[in-house]
Amino acid sequence: MIDTSGLVKNISRLAKGKGKLRLMEVCGTHTVAIFRAGIRQILPANVELVSGPGCPVCVTCDDYIDKAIAYAKKKFIVATFGDMLKVPGSCSSLAEASAQGADVRIVYSPLDCLKLAEENPDKRVIFLAVGFETTAPTQAATVLAAKARGLKNLFMLSAQKLVPPALRFLLGDAATKVDGFLLPGHVAVVTGANAFNFLATEFNMPSAIGGFEAEEILIALKSILEQIDGGKVEVVNDYRAVVKAEGNVAAQKILSQVYGVTDAEWRGMGTIPASGLKMRDEFAAFDIERVEPVSIECVEKKTACRCGEVLRGLVEPTDCSLFGKACQPLHAVGACMVSVEGVCAAWFKYGGKNFRW
Ligand code: SF4
Repeated sequence: MIDTSGLVKNISRLAKGKGKLRLMEVCGTHTVAIFRAGIRQILPANVELVSGPGCPVCVTCDDYIDKAIAYAKKKFIVATFGDMLKVPGSCSSLAEASAQGADVRIVYSPLDCLKLAEENPDKRVIFLAVGFETTAPTQAATVLAAKARGLKNLFMLSAQKLVPPALRFLLGDAATKVDGFLLPGHVAVVTGANAFNFLATEFNMPSAIGGFEAEEILIALKSILEQIDGGKVEVVNDYRAVVKAEGNVAAQKILSQVYGVTDAEWRGMGTIPASGLKMRDEFAAFDIERVEPVSIECVEKKTACRCGEVLRGLVEPTDCSLFGKACQPLHAVGACMVSVEGVCAAWFKYGGKNFRW
């Protein structure tokens, strides 16, 4: 059994006298796990956990939602994970489109869309392919299976993103103040620990790959603090049971068979070079934007939502004037309040910065 109190004592010892330390948990799963376990409350006062851009729904831009709605209005069946439904686009959401008669279906895996397309041969099905390296291989496998089955009515609306380029962007941004990264274990399972080596070699930035149990998170935080305390700066793999240095080579192979790397637009960060995936030409028949581009007419809405700054760790959700008032999970103004892994949703649910509702 892991000695949690011993870990906290060690963290406190390592942090002592270091001044304010800001450690960014990159992924939304960590954000929720940290709140659920009460880790923020047991860390020393000078260690601040900052949430990063690791919620795929949150970093997806309004115009992607606008396109999905436009396709739904053109009588496509739009299949998506449930947390995309209420994400606000420029002037509407898929939930609102569904209420107005659009055919929007919730699926639990992109592979479910194969059956959906086969059962609806006279309809066209689009899967909203949003996510990071964790989910992209399954989306690629779905495309391969659709091709093997000769399906002509299944398409992807792609907005997959890659985590390492986003961290590179943050480190190149003078506004970002981070002393270490808690890296996402599930992304690293696919990419491999080596994909994050640039953090140490190019930026001298302490980091550790962590699992999602409280003890695993504390172990990774301790590893980061050991580096800050004067140890060798490197990517410490504290999730060795599942993360290998080279990653999941089979998943990488499927992914690169279907997708190449392209620039991608992130909410709050703009276009980040080589941070997204685009279907290779031989699979263009499954890329709905190449098969049938759609124009979107919505005018960008103006709200006081600060999602973009929240995702970069520049402000906390409670710094947003709408937090807990106009913006709540049941009527979210911004994407960060919609997803269960959204930073604002986590702060709302678990009472971040003493918020009470
Ligand atoms: S509280 Fe709502 S409006 Fe404010 S930043 Fe978060 S999601 Fe956006």
